[in-house]
Amino acid sequence: MNVRVRFAPSPTGHLHIGNVRTALYNWLFARQNQGVSILRIEDTDVARSEERFEQQLMDDLRWLGLTWDEGPDCGGRHGPYRQSERLDQHRECVTRLLSEGEAYYCFCSPEELQRERQRQLIQGNAPRYSGKCRNIPPSEALKRIGSGEEAVVRLKIREGSVDFEDLVFGPLSAECEQIGDFVLLRSDGTAAYNLACAVDDAAMEMTHVIRGEGHISNAYRQILIYQALHLSPPLFAHLSTILAKEGGKLSKRQGATSIADFRQRGYLPEAMVNYLALLGWAPSEEGREILGLDELVAEFDLGRVNRSPATFDLEKLNWVNRNHLKRLDRESLTRLVIPYWRKRGWIHSQISPQTQAWIGEVVEAVFSHLDKVEDIVGESDLVFHYNPGDLSEAELQDLLSQKNAVAVIEEFHRQLEKNEDIDLEIYREVVAGVKKATGQKGRGLFHPIRLALTARGSGPELDKLVSLLETGKRLDLPVPILGVKERVKTFLQHLR
Ligand code: GLU
Repeated sequence: MNVRVRFAPSPTGHLHIGNVRTALYNWLFARQNQGVSILRIEDTDVARSEERFEQQLMDDLRWLGLTWDEGPDCGGRHGPYRQSERLDQHRECVTRLLSEGEAYYCFCSPEELQRERQRQLIQGNAPRYSGKCRNIPPSEALKRIGSGEEAVVRLKIREGSVDFEDLVFGPLSAECEQIGDFVLLRSDGTAAYNLACAVDDAAMEMTHVIRGEGHISNAYRQILIYQALHLSPPLFAHLSTILAKEGGKLSKRQGATSIADFRQRGYLPEAMVNYLALLGWAPSEEGREILGLDELVAEFDLGRVNRSPATFDLEKLNWVNRNHLKRLDRESLTRLVIPYWRKRGWIHSQISPQTQAWIGEVVEAVFSHLDKVEDIVGESDLVFHYNPGDLSEAELQDLLSQKNAVAVIEEFHRQLEKNEDIDLEIYREVVAGVKKATGQKGRGLFHPIRLALTARGSGPELDKLVSLLETGKRLDLPVPILGVKERVKTFLQHLR
């Protein structure tokens, strides 16, 4: 079988975790079967669809590396790839269904339908259309339409049940009676979602439809449409819902869930893809969870996708991201960090090779335990900004209460001042001198020095930091870097 799958987002908002996982599973399935992946924009909700969302979602998908073989931007043999451009075909199918007696015009007013629905709910029944207009003779229906009456078109549901074998959920079945005659064409002549989706999928010769679990109820309806049109339906694979760790649906409140947000915060695309793949699927080799895109293509197995809900866990995503960050070399990390630093105004838009190399050193010094690029930026703040006033009162009191801590800083200052320039070698000599003069060692020696140099209780290795500060202060940067001697002097002034 020549596998053809599609990702069919509605451009009514940003791509979030759930629909990107759908895009990913489609993409992986296509790749591992040498199939074709298609991007279809489901933009029939004219009021809510926006061009900018379409652009954004394509941008997000490209960033993740989830490219498509056919789509609105690149075309293909099965276009058009925007649902709104296939309205004529949707209508043609409805005309066919009407002429074959598989569908009928319904003149019930929205108020009438609403009353009916309420009645059914009160009786404890699932709301569905009563079939009131089913038996209006077609000639009469056409006359009423001719005289300007508004009507929708409904599918005449057959008896029995709709059954299919879902590739994730297994055998699924629904009673037709429970479904009721649903709307195919709205009174304004536009296709309802299920009709548009089925007609598009058939026209695009989809072999598999992989999408969220919420669409299982639509699958029954779409299969009924295929059958009425004498078409064979594609295979379906529905993906379980993704829940928030706290339970319930994923929402904005549980942190940013749009892909654009994650990107902004410095998550790597390869980490996002890796983590999303694990939401509902696990590689066969236990414990092997850090996988690149190619490895995912090799490993992924739609047949092993879990039908119970997956839980979105930010901690785990951070862990995956950290592992992918570790796989990067210094140059790649530097390239990632530069735009953030520019945005903060820490570096000019044009940077010299020396500055570039120095950025690499800063990144390497601060990056060890960090989860995402945003954190690397936060952590490198201590190189660019120095303000002893940032120390909390408690930290200050703690410092002052330690025997000899201030003496260490004073001695450090005195010995530094004996030198014109500071480099790593001199710094080490100075520290050795301070140790000798004050009798302090270990934390008693280095903690006060760290506070004096960074006004923070933790941070990168001091040896590395000293070199960075001393090289940094000679670079042409928008905000000059304060060197070691200046920092210690400022710190002592703050203490007094
Ligand atoms: N536009 C639908 C959605 O975003 C797609 C459903 C489908 O894949 O059939 O949920």
